Amino acid sequence: MSMHRKLIVFIGPPGAGKGTLSQLFVDRLQCKQLSTGNLLRKHIRENTDLGKSIDLALKSGKLVSDDCVIAMVIDWLGNHARDGRPVILDGFPRTRAQAEALDRALAQINADASFGLSVLQMELGDEEATRRILGRLVCSQNECQAVYSMVGAQTMGDSGYSCVRCGNVLIRRSDDAPEAIADRLTIYRRHEREIMEYYRACGAWIMNIAMNRDPETIFLEVQQRLAGI
Ligand code: AMP
Repeated sequence: MSMHRKLIVFIGPPGAGKGTLSQLFVDRLQCKQLSTGNLLRKHIRENTDLGKSIDLALKSGKLVSDDCVIAMVIDWLGNHARDGRPVILDGFPRTRAQAEALDRALAQINADASFGLSVLQMELGDEEATRRILGRLVCSQNECQAVYSMVGAQTMGDSGYSCVRCGNVLIRRSDDAPEAIADRLTIYRRHEREIMEYYRACGAWIMNIAMNRDPETIFLEVQQRLAGI
C-alpha cells in the first residue's frame, strides 16, 4: 500500500461487508481499524453513560448524534493514528458533517504526520444487503465482534455458533432485526449521496468497488488499486 495514502474510509450500506474487508486489511496488512459501530456497541454492553444514551438509537437503526461520534473518533485518532500504520475507518463518516469534521482533524494530525485520505465507496443493492443482514451473526466479545455469514455457510467454520477467532458465542445484533433494516438502508442512502458529493467536490481520491463478490477477490482488487495511487 502506498505510504502517501494512510487513511481509508469505508462508505457502504449495512451488510456491504465493511467489517469483513476491514478484518482482511488488519490481518494481512497490519492496518488499524476503527469501527464506530463496534465502539458504540461496546459502550452499550459496558453500560457507560454514553452507552445508556445511545442504546435506543442503535436498536432502532437511527444514527447517533454527530457531536458524540465525532468526539469519539477524534479521540481515537489522537491515540492511535500516530504510529505510521494505515488506518481504516469502518462506518465513519456517516454524514457530511462528520466528513467535514474528519478533514479538520486530519489537517491537525498532518502537522506532524502525512495522512492522506482515500475513499472506498462500496456498492451493493438494498435487496442483497437485506439478505446478508438477515443472515449475519457477530461475536459477542467486545474486543472481537467478528462478523459471520449464515448465508455463505462456509464462513461459519467448524465452530457452529461460536467464534473461530476467540471462541465466544455468536449473537444476532439487535439492529439486524427486519423492522430496523429498511430504515437503516434509507438513512444510509440519503447520507451517502451528501458525503460523496462532498468528497467529489474536495477532489478526494475515490474508489468504487462492487461488493457482490467474495471478500478475497474484493480485498485483492482494493489492495492493488491502493498500491497504484
Ligand atoms: P454499524 O456497526 O457500522 O452498522 O453501526 C451500527 C449503528 O451504530 C448504526 O446504525 C448507528 O446507530 C451507529 N453508528 C455507527 N457509526 C456511526 C456514525 N459514524 N454516526 C452515527 N451513528 C453511527
